[in-house]
Amino acid sequence: MTTQRSDSGLPSILKKLGEMTAIRDTSMVEQSLLRTLGPLLGILETGFYRVNDNNHIIRALYHARKVVEDHGSKRVVDNVEEVTNERQVSPELRNLFDSVRLLRKSCCRKLGMDLLICYPIFGENQVLGYFVFQRDREVTPVEDAIVQGVLEVFTNYFALLDSSQRDQLTGLLNRYSLEANLDRLWNLLSAKLHTGDKNGNARVNCPESYWLCVLDVDHFKKINDSFGHMIGDEVLIMVTRLLQSALRQSDLLYRYGGEEFVAIIAANDFDSAKEAFERTRASIEAFHFPQVGRVTISGGFSNADPNVLPQEVIHRADSALYAAKDAGRNRIFDYDSLIKQGILKAAATGTIDLF
Ligand code: GH3
Ligand code: MG
Ligand code: MG
Repeated sequence: MTTQRSDSGLPSILKKLGEMTAIRDTSMVEQSLLRTLGPLLGILETGFYRVNDNNHIIRALYHARKVVEDHGSKRVVDNVEEVTNERQVSPELRNLFDSVRLLRKSCCRKLGMDLLICYPIFGENQVLGYFVFQRDREVTPVEDAIVQGVLEVFTNYFALLDSSQRDQLTGLLNRYSLEANLDRLWNLLSAKLHTGDKNGNARVNCPESYWLCVLDVDHFKKINDSFGHMIGDEVLIMVTRLLQSALRQSDLLYRYGGEEFVAIIAANDFDSAKEAFERTRASIEAFHFPQVGRVTISGGFSNADPNVLPQEVIHRADSALYAAKDAGRNRIFDYDSLIKQGILKAAATGTIDLF
């Protein structure tokens, strides 16, 4: 691992923190964190791992800087890459994460001539991520104080941003979050479908396709009217939990509107996607909601083809949802079948402006 002189003067740190907290997008803030800490520690590669409540990695960012010769002068080029293949997390790193989580403080491991160093990133009293780097020497007490300070500012700011992307009632990511991240999400789907892993190897365990479903509670207004808004709210929370347990950890679920949800899942083919969405519908139908009794949902889904505009994919899923409502509710329809059957007509272009 190459090292370089660290740049840890106070004015430079304050400037970096100022830049970091001027950003309003969570993924950009994560990238900025790495861009701030790498030079501070005088290292060329850093990593950031976000985990969920079950310590399952939901996001991994690698930041690499390279010193390149440019017309005789040296220039630093940096690049942040998002990697989502969990297989790339080595057993040593996993082991290190476990220690950091358990001890709730930074830990390190010997890795050949180098040290692998990991800091916890806390959120609401639990570990929400890890900051990792490799270096040929230990962290000095001054560096340690700086890293901890930067991580603390990052965590506070990140929590603020995160709360604006979360729905208060259900805790799910909200519509704003989906819309703000659609392009990034689409780039990621595209990269996952079309490329091999980081080392250029062939795809291993990669899903064949992604699917987006808009789900809507049936006759929810009646539930509010008959039982009151508070019971309505409880139903929404229970529907959320049921959807979460019917879907997998790696699937994405958003509260898209009052009683509307968007799920994005990976599946090998159309049949498995249909089966997954059917399973969510059936889990709601089978549940006995206290006081209310039976509640059902309808859904419409479409292939999240990275070559189609994300807004168009949402529009397709939404059209299929409305067809499902028309057909009597408590069912899941898919856009392609409705087009084939002539029930829906294909849009002329992919530029439908939903937002
Ligand atoms: P459909 O089967 O066609 O979807 O009928 P619906 O009654 O579910 O649909 P409609 O769009 O007519 O009504 C949705 C209702 O959801 C209206 C709104 O008052 C209610 N709602 C939206 N957000 C919330 C919320 O946060 N809590 C509660 N209790 N109700 C909400
Ligand atoms: Mg509804
Ligand atoms: Mg609705």
